[in-house]
Amino acid sequence: MESVHANQLNVLVIEDDDFQRQMIIRMLNSLGVASIADAANGKQALNIVCNNKSQPLDVVLCDLNMPEMDGMEFVRHLGEGQHNISIIIISGLDRKLLASVEKMIHSYKIKLLGTIEKPLTIESLERLLSHYERSDPAVPQVKEKIFILDEIRQGIRDHQFEPYYQPKVELQSGRIIGAEILARWVHPTYGLIDPFSFIPQLEKSGMIDELTFTMLEQSVKQCCLFHALGYNLTIAINLSPASLEDSSLADKITRLVRKAGLDPKYIMFEITESAAISEVAHILENLARLCMHGFALSIDDYGTGYSSMQQLTHTSFSELKIDQSFITDLTGNADLKVIVESNIDMAHKLNMKSVAEGIETQQDWDILSKMRCDTGQGYFFAKPMDAASFLALLQQYIPWKSSPD
Ligand code: C2E
Ligand code: CA
Ligand code: CA
Repeated sequence: MESVHANQLNVLVIEDDDFQRQMIIRMLNSLGVASIADAANGKQALNIVCNNKSQPLDVVLCDLNMPEMDGMEFVRHLGEGQHNISIIIISGLDRKLLASVEKMIHSYKIKLLGTIEKPLTIESLERLLSHYERSDPAVPQVKEKIFILDEIRQGIRDHQFEPYYQPKVELQSGRIIGAEILARWVHPTYGLIDPFSFIPQLEKSGMIDELTFTMLEQSVKQCCLFHALGYNLTIAINLSPASLEDSSLADKITRLVRKAGLDPKYIMFEITESAAISEVAHILENLARLCMHGFALSIDDYGTGYSSMQQLTHTSFSELKIDQSFITDLTGNADLKVIVESNIDMAHKLNMKSVAEGIETQQDWDILSKMRCDTGQGYFFAKPMDAASFLALLQQYIPWKSSPD
């Protein structure tokens, strides 16, 4: 993937309000965007998308509430076609509604650069445009490629899956205290492949453990190396609730970690509650055993619906990870601030650390620091990277500093 400057982008603005549309066009002009087309509703926009083969669009800025064809229907048509267009949603609608539109966009496998709540500012626009990445034309497009289970399992057996590291940063000091392990498929033909192209298939077929154990094995070894070099980090590994249904899981994990010579206290398991759990008793047994052996447990994606309050009372979780949908747009949204601050306070009252994921700006960091959030993670600090790059980062790293009050 190649980062692209605004002056190389072809952008389409879809907004029914003439005044707002003109304002957005003016902002795009002052950001130096290469070409700007505009439409007053989804139908006009679709015409432009389909009849504009000579100069393909890169980014669409799309309002949701519009006459004739609204933003949701436009997204559906875009998703059903063979387009390679990234999208930015601009809307004055409720955050919860926006979250469901975001989910819909993801399920169409359309690249969402982000959501801007109205009124939009030139800074937020510039930030989201900077997320645009153009795929290398020499590498076949992965969007169209659907991997079947057998291919994925073969890839795992061929050791093509690697742990990527995203730093977890102590917000008061800016120190790196650990990293989240995120699975990447380094595919010989298609390049770097994100989890959404293989995790759902593995989870559905009950094969997710094959991935969990290759991630665990590699990252535990690498973690021992980091410790040997003097970096006493904790690594956080994602565990699917489906894995926890097998009551022997905790023992298998414990054996692997002990054999590698790592103290379990350096491993945190991030767990998202799922709607599709059947073996609740087995899950609780595994969690209790992991805890007993000294592993730390984190509630992932907190606030997204499935991860309910009830979970907090079952096992001793030591970390509450507030979902990134609450952190994006935190700066401009007073309601979100109340929710996030209450979650941080709740975590502390329950003797848990609070973690915010999806920190993308200095302002996000400053606000969360003031709210006494303990730990943060996000593109502002670093994107996920392979083990060698992470080690290089640790070696040349001087703690970032949050702005003074
Ligand atoms: P997650 O656990 O919520 O992980 C955070 C996701 O947010 C990661 O996506 C990360 O790259 C992305 N992210 C981090 N900082 C930012 C930011 O500042 N802005 C934005 N927009 N995104 C950010 P990724 O790596 O694509 O992983 C997606 C999901 O796949 C993870 O969500 C996790 O649920 C799952 N996953 C990844 N690796 C594994 C694994 O080894 N096992 C299991 N069971 N699930 C995994
Ligand atoms: Ca996670
Ligand atoms: Ca999350």
